[in-house]
Amino acid sequence: MNIHEYQAKELLAKFGVPVPAGFAAMSVDEAVAAAQQLPGPLWVVKAQIHAGGRGKGKFTELGPDAKGGVRLARSIDEVRDNAAEMLGKTLVTIQTGAAGKQVQRLYITDGVDIAKEFYLALLVDRETGRIAVVASTEGGMDIETVAHDTPEKIATITIDPATGLMPHHGRSVAAALGLKGDLAKQCAKVLSGLYQAFIGTDASQIEINPLAVTDKGELMVLDAKVGFDSNAEFRHKDLAELRDLTEEDPMEIEASKYDLSYIKLDGSIGCMVNGAGLAMATMDIIKLEGAEPANFLDVGGGANKEKVTAAFKIILSDPAVKGILVNIFGGIMRCDIIADGIVAAAREVSLSVPLVVRLEGTNVQQGKDILAQSGLPIIAANDLGDAARKIVAEVKAPVAA
Ligand code: GDP
Ligand code: MG
Repeated sequence: MNIHEYQAKELLAKFGVPVPAGFAAMSVDEAVAAAQQLPGPLWVVKAQIHAGGRGKGKFTELGPDAKGGVRLARSIDEVRDNAAEMLGKTLVTIQTGAAGKQVQRLYITDGVDIAKEFYLALLVDRETGRIAVVASTEGGMDIETVAHDTPEKIATITIDPATGLMPHHGRSVAAALGLKGDLAKQCAKVLSGLYQAFIGTDASQIEINPLAVTDKGELMVLDAKVGFDSNAEFRHKDLAELRDLTEEDPMEIEASKYDLSYIKLDGSIGCMVNGAGLAMATMDIIKLEGAEPANFLDVGGGANKEKVTAAFKIILSDPAVKGILVNIFGGIMRCDIIADGIVAAAREVSLSVPLVVRLEGTNVQQGKDILAQSGLPIIAANDLGDAARKIVAEVKAPVAA
């Protein structure tokens, strides 16, 4: 789960991380009221969407010369004008895709004068099985570009979970950023706050870009992106209210209601599979046959009729889907029960595209008989390769005029 910048900063502030004062605003009036509570003479009006690159982003409805989604204002009137121009508009950044995202919230913050910008992130490093701190002197820019062009300017320091964060980690990060004296001390403190926040919320990433040195010699978090590990959601009921459903894919929200793991992809073959590993293998084999999967969908071990029906509806609501491949291994769940579910679901949603089903496991013959006797145009497959070939052939077949 991802959250907005203003929520991330409010959260980090609770862990002692220095952030500029600011208030979220849903309307122009709220933006003005927020600005009036801040000292000035500089304010920042920031679009709140779940994507980075806002500063360099473009609003679809405004001309190419219009400013991006992060704007400096030198008076309350400028805050008002910028808020009015940004609210309700569509912001396209390198992270949103071409469709962009509608700006429904703004964050009005106290503007600071920046002396230097750094990059600092904490994430889970799967290779070492540790939390990694990634630090770079090249802040304020796209870190992917830095990693590609000047990888030597990125330092990675991993933290042993057995010891947790130690003073030497703080010194290493400060050294990587070229900070000395008081700024090095501030850096160690910021890192400590970020680490406590990471552990305390079961975060999956905390990205600060930029971490700024102000003209007053203070380290300050000017932008924060925080994501949480959804497997630990049950431990953080209080974080659930930070979720902004308008930022999420409607089909993925629908899927989560039925405990289905669904991720929308760009291809034309809808997949319904039980087990994440089998789902990955199914996507691979579709690609091997020269087509692209329209989604990843794991119906889980206890797939019943309700779940299968919901899964069919979600897959079919994607107009890009030209065929469906169901690949189920009946282990805990018997194949005949799955087949009943598929038949009932296919009837209920009045299936409009070719459907190939590969069943394997307990009671597989009964399952196949149920599909064959259903009278539905279900194409049976014997194994995974056969199933992929059949569905790709169906989808690629020229449509009769
Ligand atoms: P992003 O474009 O989505 O990453 O949004 P950021 O919050 O990182 O803002 C983009 C850029 O705006 C930053 O890299 C800064 O250079 C600049 N910026 C953000 N806040 C301030 C501020 O308080 N003062 C000044 N002078 N610049 C700021
Ligand atoms: Mg940024």
